[in-house]
Amino acid sequence: MSYELVWFKRDLRWHDHAALSRAARLGPVRCVFVVEPGLWSQPDAALQHFEFARESLQALDAELRRRGGWLEVHVGELTEVLDRIWLREPFAGLHSHEETGNGYTFERDRKVLAWCRNRGVPWQEYPQFGVVRGLKNRNQWQGAYEAHMALPLEVVGKLSFWRPGSKGISNPPDSVFSPESVPVPAGLSQQPRARQKGGRAMGLATLRSFLHGRSLGYRGGMSSPLTAPDACSRLSPYLAWGCISMRELVQATREQMAALPEQASRHRASLSAFLSRLYWHCHFIQKLESEPEIEWHNMHRGYDGLRENEFEPAHLEALKQGRTGWPMVDACVVMLRETGWLNFRMRAMLVSVAAYPLWLHWRPVGEWLATQFLDYEPGIHWSQLQMQSGTTGINTTRVYNPIKQAQDHDPHGRFVRRWLPAMRRVPDEWLFEPWRMPPDVQARAGLKVGVDIAVPKVDLAEATRHAKQRLHALRRSDEVKAGKQSVIDKHASRKNWRMEGESRSGRRRVRRVDLTSTPPAPAQMGFDF
Ligand SMILES: Cc1cc2nc3c(=O)[nH]c(=O)nc-3n(C[C@H](O)[C@H](O)[C@H](O)COP(=O)(O)OP(=O)(O)OC[C@H]3O[C@@H](n4cnc5c(N)ncnc54)[C@H](O)[C@@H]3O)c2cc1C
Repeated sequence: MSYELVWFKRDLRWHDHAALSRAARLGPVRCVFVVEPGLWSQPDAALQHFEFARESLQALDAELRRRGGWLEVHVGELTEVLDRIWLREPFAGLHSHEETGNGYTFERDRKVLAWCRNRGVPWQEYPQFGVVRGLKNRNQWQGAYEAHMALPLEVVGKLSFWRPGSKGISNPPDSVFSPESVPVPAGLSQQPRARQKGGRAMGLATLRSFLHGRSLGYRGGMSSPLTAPDACSRLSPYLAWGCISMRELVQATREQMAALPEQASRHRASLSAFLSRLYWHCHFIQKLESEPEIEWHNMHRGYDGLRENEFEPAHLEALKQGRTGWPMVDACVVMLRETGWLNFRMRAMLVSVAAYPLWLHWRPVGEWLATQFLDYEPGIHWSQLQMQSGTTGINTTRVYNPIKQAQDHDPHGRFVRRWLPAMRRVPDEWLFEPWRMPPDVQARAGLKVGVDIAVPKVDLAEATRHAKQRLHALRRSDEVKAGKQSVIDKHASRKNWRMEGESRSGRRRVRRVDLTSTPPAPAQMGFDF
């Protein structure tokens, strides 16, 4: 019996799933996910990613079983697995989503393409985000994004499933698993104690609680790490693993905005800000899609050599251990280790501290952070790492001062005290620069600076000033100025950022809503961090 092979990757849902619905129109489908040892041994892989994916695979398998089928999990490198399946029973076509992944998946997809060509098998890939493969000109990107988001959701109609013939499906028998039984790839260990759980149902519950309640506090609450866990959508891992489709999310948000009463202007402004982030999601992934080299190389090559040769391993180690001595930074590292999530501003602050006062190149910092973020998405991640490190050549240099961030976003030390228990009894006046605390105050607070908390390795003001001078000197050089335009052509946003209600030309502006008053307490989603 001829059949269509549907290869699930980071699109672990059946809903609005182009590969599944199109394959189903052609014949019986066979659904597979492949655990590739080579991919899981990359430096950006982590146990939390694997376990989140496993939970999402279980949910997908259960959904397919309700429809009379199932999901096979194979272990092996892609072309070996395809060979094994093919030798048992050839398939008519291969279907998957277009993946903008890391260097490993890029090379693997080339091998898969060659494998398909050699056997005359058509491989259909379908976009799952507003990312355009083979984009010639950034000027056309926004239109393509809007067109993708406006399309009706893919309806997976009646599914007919492939059935194993007399030869069975296992060849060799131990290479096919159910999601629960597939072993953890070698080398992955330790995951956050309180990370979000995978699966479409969890994603939908998170979406509902956000759209119908928590989003009210989004704009006012997204910056402080105290309010952000509830105020932000927390949808990032569900997008990264495709449990929810970007199109269904954009459409649901637009519908919710349209349903809000006229006077709900604050809620509408928050949802509008959220929609902008969804746009950024695809805008950033497009950068890696258009130039996969930015996973390793500076987006603007004029910045090559800026930090590479001065790497100080002790600085990276201090950051990873939460021992920089700046309480806000160290508390963020601990929260991240415990939960797998941080809000945007605190991620940007961590990278800024790494890039400026600690003068660390973005690549090793990014490798470590990729394993810490449950929502690791290569396109957003590497573009953001470079942007916050000042190597894109097209973005304003943003340097976050960790002391000021603490004063602005955690003035009473609730966040720092929560994640750095040693700081619990430190008096408010020493919260921001505890290394200056006199010994008798340290004794009364029950901690020893240099032991229970670290002393900063560099003087923050001096090291930051020096770093900025070096970056700005390079920025003014003829070589860097000359290279800027090509980066703009390839990567810069052409979007005329609009508030909800503005016309396309941006002329009819809606009045900005006053967001300074305290938002009401958001509906709790059970994020206890
Ligand atoms: C150094 C650095 C690395 C990052 N790495 C990742 C990553 O690997 N994966 C990831 O999903 N996000 C990454 N981000 C972006 C952002 O911090 C997270 O998307 C966000 O914190 C996730 O929480 P949320 O879903 O509650 O976000 P919300 O604020 O609710 O946003 C909704 C969605 O919009 C997208 N989004 C939000 N902010 C951005 C942004 N600045 N750029 C691009 N897309 C955005 C995400 O898909 C997010 O899930 C990174 C940011 C920085 C500064």
